[in-house]
Amino acid sequence: MRVAVVGGGVAGLGSALALARQGHQVSVFERDDTPMPSSADEAFAWDRRGAPQVRHSHAFLARLRNMLATSYPDIHAALLAEGATEMRVDDDLPPTMVGFEREPGDDELVMLACRRTTFEWVLRRAAIADGRVAFRTGEPVVGLVAADEPGRPHVVGVRLADGSTSAFDLVIAANGRRSVLPDWLAELGAPPVHEQVEDTGIVYYSRFYRLRPGCEAPPRTGPIGGDLGYLKYGVFVGDNDTFSITLATPVDDDQLRKLLADPVVFDTTARHLAATAPWLDGRGEPLTDEVHVMAGLLNRWRDHVVDGEPVATGVIPVGDVVLCTNPLYGRGCSTAFWSAHLMADAVAAFGDDLREVALAYDASLRAEILPWYQAGVAQDAEARRVAAALLAGEDPDADTSDPRTFMRAVLRDGLLPAMRTDPVVLRAFFRSLNLLSRPDELATDPDVGARVLAAWQTRDQRPADPPLGPASRADLLDLIAV
Ligand SMILES: Cc1cc2nc3c(=O)[nH]c(=O)nc-3n(C[C@H](O)[C@H](O)[C@H](O)COP(=O)(O)OP(=O)(O)OC[C@H]3O[C@@H](n4cnc5c(N)ncnc54)[C@H](O)[C@@H]3O)c2cc1C
Repeated sequence: MRVAVVGGGVAGLGSALALARQGHQVSVFERDDTPMPSSADEAFAWDRRGAPQVRHSHAFLARLRNMLATSYPDIHAALLAEGATEMRVDDDLPPTMVGFEREPGDDELVMLACRRTTFEWVLRRAAIADGRVAFRTGEPVVGLVAADEPGRPHVVGVRLADGSTSAFDLVIAANGRRSVLPDWLAELGAPPVHEQVEDTGIVYYSRFYRLRPGCEAPPRTGPIGGDLGYLKYGVFVGDNDTFSITLATPVDDDQLRKLLADPVVFDTTARHLAATAPWLDGRGEPLTDEVHVMAGLLNRWRDHVVDGEPVATGVIPVGDVVLCTNPLYGRGCSTAFWSAHLMADAVAAFGDDLREVALAYDASLRAEILPWYQAGVAQDAEARRVAAALLAGEDPDADTSDPRTFMRAVLRDGLLPAMRTDPVVLRAFFRSLNLLSRPDELATDPDVGARVLAAWQTRDQRPADPPLGPASRADLLDLIAV
């Protein structure tokens, strides 16, 4: 088939790679008009206005890393050759961990560490090197073309900004979180796409650094991120001795929002957080003068099969066009690449029967990825409740009869300590974090549950954990007041 892929981000690249390797001819239309970089550092300076999140910290979960290592060993090797590293479940185990023995299954408990721009650059290079992929940068698609037939639209091509059209057998919409695919479909007379949207409740702030020559990264035996309720934070290892720090505040906290956009205040704040402080002890220098800020972060799921029928055939949405999730969970690139491969599996199974392709793809999205979306939305609702209480100066755990209070206590005083001592709990958590199990497995596995509860029951016999950061928002404001 002749396939158009609209958008050259992670989902577009995954689609192009998978379909090209099935023998299809693929044209990728990417609106950003930027020359191909020749190194990871050049890629970091890439103009990627179409995907501004590339300037933010990115974690690449084991789900994505394993898809690459298994199906694209050449690309996986190229990422490592360009300076990406891997983080295994048993790297930097805390001294409190008892009896961790490597098991064969641990080989898949590995995350990839690199900048988002490095990741995308290496994948784009591999796609371009495949003779069946034409990469057309600086060519935004502005609409779709449908066949002149009765019934729901059948897409047969794309419209370009210069007014021309181009015919294709299949169009993959991979144009990201700002995609207006529902409008394009409506223009063709398709029924409305079903959409559910919820705010993640956070604003994101990221800054990148590089280790100075001769300096090493601090050991990662403790937490690499945390949640103070009023502030969430994490440190992300990048490629080529780079790292980044991300802070996230509740959307309603205007005061912190203004303060943290200032690089000096940002660094001062990070120096008061247990996980990030060691990274800012002078061993690193900023790669960026500014702090990158991103708001408007939504959870959004779109159904393109309505009343049992695709709203249109000949066009398949992948990646953020289908689902956007809270960046804090680091799932978006994994679900983007995963969805592209579910799409390619459906194409491999049903070929040019595009109605069946759409239905099979929709069924696999619902079976595999929708549960993760729903779990994230539920987690965000709870985080928003806690953040709102703290912003109002209230105790989110005041109501001891509320089951959510008990759950928070079990997570804080059961799961977290058990992860530092018990290999079974650590592995189960890692699998869940990395989309390798189902979202409810961590909470419903009886063995893991018993171990977590045992840790919770001995909570008073352990010394108190060292503070993760300033105890309250007011304390932080005192520390960073300018
Ligand atoms: C602040 C932030 C932090 C994140 N952190 C993480 C993380 O740690 N880990 C993780 O896995 N995910 C993370 N994500 C999510 C991740 O970035 C996205 O889920 C992922 O990029 C989705 O890939 P995509 O290909 O669908 O969209 P994108 O990567 O956004 O790509 C869309 C592409 O389409 C192009 N385009 C747009 N319109 C058109 C058009 N009309 N014609 C042609 N081209 C067009 C754009 O230029 C862009 O290149 C984060 C997101 C945000 C916002």
